[in-house]
Amino acid sequence: MEQMHRLIEIVHTAKRMVFFGGAGVSTGSGIPDFRSEDGLYRQKYRFPPEQILSHTFFIHRTEEFFRFYRDKMLYLNAKPNAAHWKLAQWEQAGRLSAVITQNIDGLHQMAGSKRVLELHGSVHRNTCMQCGAHFSAQEILNSTGIPRCPCGGIIKPDVVLYEESLDERTLMEAVREIRTADVLLIGGTSLQVYPAASLIHYFQGDHLVLINQSSTPADKNADLLITGKIEEIFSQVDFL
Ligand code: NAD
Repeated sequence: MEQMHRLIEIVHTAKRMVFFGGAGVSTGSGIPDFRSEDGLYRQKYRFPPEQILSHTFFIHRTEEFFRFYRDKMLYLNAKPNAAHWKLAQWEQAGRLSAVITQNIDGLHQMAGSKRVLELHGSVHRNTCMQCGAHFSAQEILNSTGIPRCPCGGIIKPDVVLYEESLDERTLMEAVREIRTADVLLIGGTSLQVYPAASLIHYFQGDHLVLINQSSTPADKNADLLITGKIEEIFSQVDFL
């Protein structure tokens, strides 16, 4: 199709691509997103997921938070898909300078991407709130009730919850990457979560490419808009 030719042309002539993505990048790896038809937000819980994944809920209903978190946020057997692999290859070939992700699953790193800016943290880092000791995601999964450090402190996943602010340094680096990119590839994100979604407005390069399964508020700004599964679309772009 015409749009695929255009994508291949843009990718092949790009000098400094940056990728900005979200949960849709990992649905092909079996991790549900939040806002698709079968996403987490369409399922029924005692509390809405936005409330469970908030700082207030974590503090006041910690045990319930971890029940949901273990059940719905930890997919430790998931493997990277074609979208993750392709981005890692482009970086290795010196054509892509960074992956900026809202995902917390660590799949970009598992595929070999080196420069990954995790705007919302990672399930793979977990820290004792009392002594600062670190724990793996597997240790959180294996624990029951409220996960605790040997010192007695509660272990908190380094995931940005609603009401919490994003890491300042990661944000600044993301802005710098987007500002200096000649091509911004955006994919698998509803662009509804702020401030992450506002970062794309720093782009001043040549081509803004948007690949998503459903419409987003940025569709009108895209030079190239492709509707479909990002893992299928990226796998059709040859290795550079
Ligand atoms: P979202 O659920 O709001 O939106 C996902 C978007 O991706 C939707 O627009 C959907 O149409 C699209 N999509 C789904 N599968 C796709 C595919 N295969 N190819 C192309 N597009 C696809 O997700 P979001 O915008 O990332 O924002 C929600 C928040 O969810 C983020 O802050 C993130 O931290 C968190 N989250 C992360 C994970 C993860 O780490 N894998 C999973 C669920 C939610």
